[in-house]
Amino acid sequence: MKAQSLQFKRNASDALHDENLKLAMSFAKTGFIGKRAAAVAAVPQWQTIRDEARELKNHVLDNLDHYLLAYEEAVIRNGGTVHWAQDGEEAAKIIVDLCTQANAKTVAKGKSMVGEEASINEALEEAGIEPIETDLGEYIIQLAKEPPSHIIAPAVHKTKEQVSELFHEHHQQYGRQEKITDRAALVHEARVILREKFRHADVGITGANFLVAETGQHVLVTNEGNGDLSSILPRTQIVIAGIEKVVPNLNDASCLLRMLARSATGQHFSNYTSVMGGPKKAEDTDGPDAFHVVLVDNHRTDMLAGDLKEMLRCFRCGACMNHCPVYGAVGGHAYGWVYPGPMGSVLTPVMVGIEKAPDLPHACTLNGRCAEVCPMSIPLPSLLRRHRQTTFEKQLQSAHSRYGLKVWAFFAKRPIVYRTLTGLSVRFLKLIGGRRGYLKRLPLAGGWTKGRNLPVPQHAQTFMALYRKQQS
Ligand code: SF4
Repeated sequence: MKAQSLQFKRNASDALHDENLKLAMSFAKTGFIGKRAAAVAAVPQWQTIRDEARELKNHVLDNLDHYLLAYEEAVIRNGGTVHWAQDGEEAAKIIVDLCTQANAKTVAKGKSMVGEEASINEALEEAGIEPIETDLGEYIIQLAKEPPSHIIAPAVHKTKEQVSELFHEHHQQYGRQEKITDRAALVHEARVILREKFRHADVGITGANFLVAETGQHVLVTNEGNGDLSSILPRTQIVIAGIEKVVPNLNDASCLLRMLARSATGQHFSNYTSVMGGPKKAEDTDGPDAFHVVLVDNHRTDMLAGDLKEMLRCFRCGACMNHCPVYGAVGGHAYGWVYPGPMGSVLTPVMVGIEKAPDLPHACTLNGRCAEVCPMSIPLPSLLRRHRQTTFEKQLQSAHSRYGLKVWAFFAKRPIVYRTLTGLSVRFLKLIGGRRGYLKRLPLAGGWTKGRNLPVPQHAQTFMALYRKQQS
């Protein structure tokens, strides 16, 4: 996907004034968080599974070349072909070539975030091939000509009324004149229209949640079964996946599966968890004639070799963004590219270049909830701090932030002066805050006071002074 505006601050400011977005996000936040908490609480050995999963992925990342080659060998053994893509552009070219060779007019697509990285839809359209998104959320945003705003719920920013408008506008060509607003009826209408599209698609493209090195199969998880239909019905099947998706065997995949749906949607298991691989065999009743896998690097090996390696443990559950107060307030589009929320603020600067996305590592309060809920124990705030350091070193932040930090560092290295100054500042703030207890404007805190009042300290002492007093 081509980067939208990566001006996070401007996008976020616009998003905060979008009433429909506020409404849609309020429904989304409450649902995801509560369901995940209940699902995790129901598994007493959660932390043990989490530790096992972290060790498993660390082992795979330390031996990634071995497992990728083993996977390729197994896919070939099964009758398939593996293609290696250095970046998204190369992946899109490979896929367009495969579709052209298959004389494809239409392509049924399952949801794939790495497919978004590669802008597959745009590349197919340019080649005169019609891509049809078959995941309901992706279908909605395809009609709206918008990028996804969440990695597992791409249309989470849309209200039911907006979806109703979209369907009414686009479904009249299928003889559906009546405008419907009932949720179940909307789903039914999309299902009927998509079913026909599946039947006529020449190629099916899906992502993969895991690639199994031992067997050459891939595991695909969906809640709608669209991934299975996209894989089985068309004559040619293409799977696109990042190189970090490989796991040694099916047992390892099942360890990760125990956490995936629980962390993502709070389900014990997704509705459809399918294990597939290779073209149709003589004894099979269905399946594709040709099977291809496109493995995409797109800066993953840079991460592997650098200090963001832990990010490659991510299996795209979305829990970090569901628990992020910044994402919850501004939604996914404000982040400007494929991946939003905390994981996006780590990935995007690597994949598009930190010079193009210097605001993202700062779109975070460092409250740490993302790391707490991340099933793969990825220390997201620490990774964001590493990016922040890079933005500071490359002088990508505004001049006043850089000089502000330098001044702060000067005093922080001199604790007695620091304590004296912070003590005086607290007293001063309390004094000018007066009876009101807050300030409407404060120099150097314009970003805060532009949208809200700044409460002044209730006591004329610093937090540390009060803490020490209470301890003693
Ligand atoms: S960083 Fe962790 S919580 Fe966020 S999507 Fe990846 S695995 Fe899930």
